[in-house]
Amino acid sequence: MDLKSDIGPLCGTHYPALIAGPCSVESRGQLLETAEALKGRGVTVLRGGLWKPRTKPGGFEGVGEEGIPWMLEAREKTGLKIASEAGNASHAQLLVDNGFDAIWIGARTTANPFAVQEIADVVSAAAAPVAVMVKNPVNPDLELWIGALERMRLAGVETLIAVHRGFTAYGSAVYRNPPQWSIPIELRRRFPGLPLLCDPSHITGSADMVSAVAQEALDLGFDGLMTEVHPNPRCALSDAKQQLTPTQFCDMTGSLRLPVRGGNTLSLNALRHKIDDCDAELLAVLARRMEVSQEIGRLKKEKNLPAVHIDRHDEVMRSRAGQGESLGLPPEFTEKIMRLIHIESVRRQVEILNSGNNGGE
Ligand code: PEP
Ligand code: MN
Repeated sequence: MDLKSDIGPLCGTHYPALIAGPCSVESRGQLLETAEALKGRGVTVLRGGLWKPRTKPGGFEGVGEEGIPWMLEAREKTGLKIASEAGNASHAQLLVDNGFDAIWIGARTTANPFAVQEIADVVSAAAAPVAVMVKNPVNPDLELWIGALERMRLAGVETLIAVHRGFTAYGSAVYRNPPQWSIPIELRRRFPGLPLLCDPSHITGSADMVSAVAQEALDLGFDGLMTEVHPNPRCALSDAKQQLTPTQFCDMTGSLRLPVRGGNTLSLNALRHKIDDCDAELLAVLARRMEVSQEIGRLKKEKNLPAVHIDRHDEVMRSRAGQGESLGLPPEFTEKIMRLIHIESVRRQVEILNSGNNGGE
């Protein structure tokens, strides 16, 4: 399905597209203060969670419907567009009925196709079009993310945006939700026309790492950022550790290095050709190595030897890690690659050792 979309109707032409605001809408004063501080800073959309999906019961679960007029007032006063999370059909109904510019599907909801479909049905029946941002599911499942995006497209959503917020990992030490960049990169490869934002707040879980991850996202070609900003993060009722003050946010956006967009310069192309050549060499060498390994397999079969000799295996690993290191390759990297090659070698040799053993021919 074609997921092509234009980010412009929601975010304008500012690069990077900036969506910012508190994790949770907490009070009229908190929201208006944040919105005023973000006005004129390149931000086009004010985010604010009205219903909060909390892991445990008994915490602050959002002000709910009560905060809708505050969001409308913030838009009226600042000219920022407004967006909030729809976790179910009734949230979505309230947001579209009140003319929100965008809704987003949170990570826990994207993981639930029933809920996504119910929200899609509301959006599809809405009188006016609404932009929809779909966060990745909590689990690293690209197909589930794409499925949710497709449900929104089938519901007639034209302004469709994917938001990468990292993936749950048990016991993750550095990030709250490790980014696993290869997943959004694969999404971009498959749907180059689908706008892609990064949410560095939920990836890092920590204000001091937000700008580094934001920079990484831009370096990888993301179109913009959705960042949590709170006038007084320490007192925030949710996600206190990861929210930036408006000043920190402006410092970050002011210091981001912006890659040239669509900048396929000649020198870049030349270097890419070199990489293509290196890869072709690598693959040819690998294929040759596999042939030798198969020859060894045939000899082992003749002599009735096993496929794996642990001493030889250990010796290969050790010596290659050392050789790689002297070429500037970290030993862990060499070991990982050698292990993969070894697995494929052994698979081929085992195939040879077993061939003709099943009474065939
Ligand atoms: C949020 O944006 O406040 C939120 C709850 O995010 P996520 O769905 O990514 O956890
Ligand atoms: Mn949050």
